[in-house]
Amino acid sequence: MKIKYILNKFVKFCKNLDGFCMELLYPPRCPVCDEVAAEGFPICPGCRKRIREVKEPVCQKCGKPVSHNRKEFCRDCVGRNHEFTQGKALWVYEKDVRQSIYRFKYQNRRDYGKVYAMELAEAWGTWILKNHIQAIAPVPLYPGKKRRRGFNQAEVVAVELGRILGIPVEKNLFIRTRDTRPQKELNVWERKNNLKKSFKSRKNVVQLECILIIDDIYTTGSTMDAAALALREAGAGNIYFCCIGIGTDF
Ligand SMILES: [Zn+2]
Ligand SMILES: [Zn+2]
Repeated sequence: MKIKYILNKFVKFCKNLDGFCMELLYPPRCPVCDEVAAEGFPICPGCRKRIREVKEPVCQKCGKPVSHNRKEFCRDCVGRNHEFTQGKALWVYEKDVRQSIYRFKYQNRRDYGKVYAMELAEAWGTWILKNHIQAIAPVPLYPGKKRRRGFNQAEVVAVELGRILGIPVEKNLFIRTRDTRPQKELNVWERKNNLKKSFKSRKNVVQLECILIIDDIYTTGSTMDAAALALREAGAGNIYFCCIGIGTDF
């Protein structure tokens, strides 16, 4: 009994030490300028001025900023049926934000995920809770891609957001069944076909009425539609999403 107690204490001590060493080796950095962040300022005040937060008026479907509040939907969403119910974004995808997400994905700055999640909770936490989200699901990467990159960027944000808001995170709710070509290389028509049946639900999600999908960037919504469709076909009701970067309608 005593040995078990001492062992538990030792494991706890090691875990704390591990966290401490990680902080020393990898101090939290501002995701905008990549400098070591000052205590209490995950994003430098100066950097905050350089990025554009997504604010109303936004498209009531995809959350893209629109030019005036008489506009209910952006150009992409007018007359188009999406598979998801509604989505929200954090920042306008331009300059510093573009570079931040690039470093996050390709230069192993996975710590940015914590800051992104904090910011998302601050901006859209009320909206998320109001929609009675029962599970948060990151958009999955194709397994080979995940192995090469070492992590799934959407999963990092999803886990943190779930922790902050106290919502369960389902990492394996669905999978990517095909290694699709990068969406940015294709036109809208090709994008749709590229993603057709590219996701498959792994579980019966019929008991989940409302799911929040997390992705890093929203472009035309084709990825999100394919992901939402897979979950809806498995029985889910309303699919919402949150992303970090999004374009504007103007
Ligand atoms: Zn900064
Ligand atoms: Zn829209």
